[in-house]
Amino acid sequence: MRLAALSLVLTACASAAPATKPAPADAASKRPNILFIFSDDHSTAAISAYGSRINRTPNIDRLAREGMVFDRMLVTNSICAPSRAVILTGKHSAANGVRDNGDLFDGGQENVAKLLQRAGYATAMIGKWHLKTDPTGFDHWEVLPGQGQYYRPDFVTAEGEHRREGYVTDVTTDLAIEWLDSGRDEDKPFFLMCQHKAPHRSWLPGPDHLNDYDGVTIPEPATLFDDYATRTDAARMQEMEIDRHMWTYYDLQVPPLDPDAKLDGPDQWAAGSLDRMTAEQRAAFDAAFADENAAFREAGLEGRELVSWKYQRYIKNYLRCVAGVDDSVGRLLDYLDANGLAENTIVIYSSDQGFFLGEHGWYDKRWMYEPSLRMPFIVRWLGVTQPGSRSAALAQNVDFAPTFLEAAGAEASPEMQGRSLAPLLRGETPADWRDEAYYEYFEVGIHAVQPHRGVRTDRYKLIHVHPLDQWELYDLETDPDELHNRYDDEELADVQADLKARLERLRAQYGESVEGDR
Ligand code: CA
Repeated sequence: MRLAALSLVLTACASAAPATKPAPADAASKRPNILFIFSDDHSTAAISAYGSRINRTPNIDRLAREGMVFDRMLVTNSICAPSRAVILTGKHSAANGVRDNGDLFDGGQENVAKLLQRAGYATAMIGKWHLKTDPTGFDHWEVLPGQGQYYRPDFVTAEGEHRREGYVTDVTTDLAIEWLDSGRDEDKPFFLMCQHKAPHRSWLPGPDHLNDYDGVTIPEPATLFDDYATRTDAARMQEMEIDRHMWTYYDLQVPPLDPDAKLDGPDQWAAGSLDRMTAEQRAAFDAAFADENAAFREAGLEGRELVSWKYQRYIKNYLRCVAGVDDSVGRLLDYLDANGLAENTIVIYSSDQGFFLGEHGWYDKRWMYEPSLRMPFIVRWLGVTQPGSRSAALAQNVDFAPTFLEAAGAEASPEMQGRSLAPLLRGETPADWRDEAYYEYFEVGIHAVQPHRGVRTDRYKLIHVHPLDQWELYDLETDPDELHNRYDDEELADVQADLKARLERLRAQYGESVEGDR
């Protein structure tokens, strides 16, 4: 009853703030705080609230139980810096200028933090930023340079660079709590972006989780040995296979026996990250892998057995990194509880894109296929969002900024291309909600994924690998793993024509112009 009444109030007046507890006296008129907890490369397949077969995430699950899980939150461009630029600006990549990880973010353009700051919010950005130029719109920022380091990470502020002791996920959480506790102007509502490096490659678990999953065999995905039989040539041109493109030292933590051995490729970078550890950290880290590494060297595995071994080592270290992120969510929720902030703080958990956890034989992201297209997005907004609810609406990261602004009672910028998710959070799906999502990937370089663009509807997905002028079409209802390309299948001729028309229209609206094509 109370929820229905509140949602009516909110519908009538977007600036009204929700409050489930009347005390303190002015709580009902208070605008909500926004805590955005964000990680890097966290697949929904590694979150139990999304039905993970491979791990449990009790703290993220708590958010899901108390809030809403979005089952179709789709990234517009599945790679780190571009996704972050989309989230800040509410604009697709072609409009915000960050098409790939090489582009510099233009901090002069409008962004959600600037708008919230102007609306009277205290704003802070802590952790992984990855946009090359300094953050704009934040009262306070302390960010990792570039990709950052897992152990004893350096951080950058407006004053310069300094090193922090400890493990990056814990340090980022400490700094976020420190700002909440003593750094912010408590007369203002806050907008805090707490952004983790984990679980980004190369996967170095923290001291608390080094031995998680020891002696356990993690289930393999059904498509680990995909042969790409019906796909475009792009699937065979990629360089992101667990089989052929994982580095023994850098990715898998199996160091060379000869410490003076000449190393190739990313293996050359492995020692740089490990050498940052204290002697104690290093001893614990090495001890965690020593016995398994010895057995691996002894076994001389080949073929599928070797791929399965690499998968186990990869996925366990990935999940150990995820466990640290889940701890962080728990610590932040506990802080809100202990300080009377839970009721009036919207808490969001998300990650910059999905990730391949062995699906199609891959790691990394980039593709428009579901494992890298789907982002986690869980929102707890007490008094507004029905606890334990789910949304199947097609939503995208371009919608985050308008959502936060509506929640704060502030206006979105007219150049923003996303749409506020606030009605969905109130349990209402507008009749004219989008029935198609646009995707465009631009990067040419590492992992050799061809640029491509596409459209996804509730049921179908069309992908155009335009440098090759080759197409894929999937019926996600009958083929959720996207193994059977139906492009030019007579049975789907009408669907194909419809999707092509949609793609052309969406590209004109949000995509790169023909002249700017690359
Ligand atoms: Ca990422």
